Amino acid sequence: MSGHIPAATAGELTASPARRAELAANLAEVRARIDAACAEAGREPGEVRLVAVTKTFPASDAAALAGLGQLDLGENRDQEAAPKAAALRAAGIGATWHYIGQLQRNKAKSVAAYAGLVQSVDRPQLVKALADAAGRLGREPLGVLLQLSLDGDTERGGVAGADLDALVDSVTSRPELALRGVMAVAPLGWAPDKAFEQVAALSERVRRTVPEAVEISAGMSGDFTRAIVFGATLVRIGAILLGSRSDLG
Ligand SMILES: *Cc1c(COP(=O)(O)O)cnc(C)c1O
Repeated sequence: MSGHIPAATAGELTASPARRAELAANLAEVRARIDAACAEAGREPGEVRLVAVTKTFPASDAAALAGLGQLDLGENRDQEAAPKAAALRAAGIGATWHYIGQLQRNKAKSVAAYAGLVQSVDRPQLVKALADAAGRLGREPLGVLLQLSLDGDTERGGVAGADLDALVDSVTSRPELALRGVMAVAPLGWAPDKAFEQVAALSERVRRTVPEAVEISAGMSGDFTRAIVFGATLVRIGAILLGSRSDLG
């Protein structure tokens, strides 16, 4: 299970010059589009943080992005994220890892060891597993976002509105965790505005209980400009930064 992770060599972590140039150009363009969306929405660019979603791409891409100053990196599978995080750490790269995928309780211990923010917390059993793991690691409180299910189809992850208040209580009852806000994916077939308006309202509801839970993680490659209009503080962007993925990751 906790497989031996070979120390990364410098070679494995070095993207080709062409790839580095491509990532630099994509990153500059994405940052410019975020700034433009902020300007249009009357917000300060510093209010929106970019999370580069490196899933399915090699650790060398993650390292290249970090070298360009893009230190917030997102992953959705522990099997892939754990070795990537270990490789960057071994190379002395201090990235912040955002865990954005569905999470099974038996992976909580692994994720709590490298994640700076777990964005996909959606049920009390997972709260308990993460809090127990963070406590055993003796780490600083593990930041969490509550993943919202906007259409009530919780099969794909997320907490339904009716269960949100109880989930907030379960997180705030655990000092090993720090509730930072909410996360959502716009449901397939929904107009982005309808989704992000609902996210804003649910964020406000959480902040009535936990005022410091100000983060709103919303928006991906196809819809982040609309998410910024509705208050997103974190946008999770993969495809337009790293390229299209061959799988459905
Ligand atoms: C893959 C993924 C993203 C990034 O999506 P892109 O369309 O590649 O920008 C964002 N959020 C979650 C939860 C994801 O799984």
